[in-house]
Amino acid sequence: MKFQSIKHFSVGVGGILPSMKNPRNTFMNFLKKSGFSTDITAHTHLIPYGGYEREVCSDRIILVGDAAGFVDPFYGEGIKYAFR
Ligand SMILES: Cc1cc2nc3c(=O)[nH]c(=O)nc-3n(C[C@H](O)[C@H](O)[C@H](O)COP(=O)(O)OP(=O)(O)OC[C@H]3O[C@@H](n4cnc5c(N)ncnc54)[C@H](O)[C@@H]3O)c2cc1C
Repeated sequence: MKFQSIKHFSVGVGGILPSMKNPRNTFMNFLKKSGFSTDITAHTHLIPYGGYEREVCSDRIILVGDAAGFVDPFYGEGIKYAFR
């Protein structure tokens, strides 16, 4: 593939942490296979998906938002859940 006319892309890989042994290698291989340059600055972000069976409150504490793990595990959206 050739992408000469477009100057900026937002590209990423994602997965569940225990199964992502080396996300940087996975990402670089993905870039190479897809015809992108590997001369890039990469950023990583954890999506703190906690699952629905976690305890998120006790007598004097309540966790909300990311701290409670209230994010969409696929898209990473968490703002709506944090507000709710
Ligand atoms: C790159 C990226 C892109 C995202 N894009 C989207 C998107 O498009 N849509 C969407 O819905 N969600 C998105 N999210 C997720 C979303 O940002 C979070 O789910 C949401 O901000 C969670 O809100 P929160 O209030 O729980 O936590 P945060 O917004 O992380 O707020 C926690 C605050 O606590 C502060 N803090 C931490 N420790 C301390 C301390 N010891 N003392 C005092 N303050 C402290 C932090 O500085 C921070 O300001 C994205 C996340 C990332 C990383």
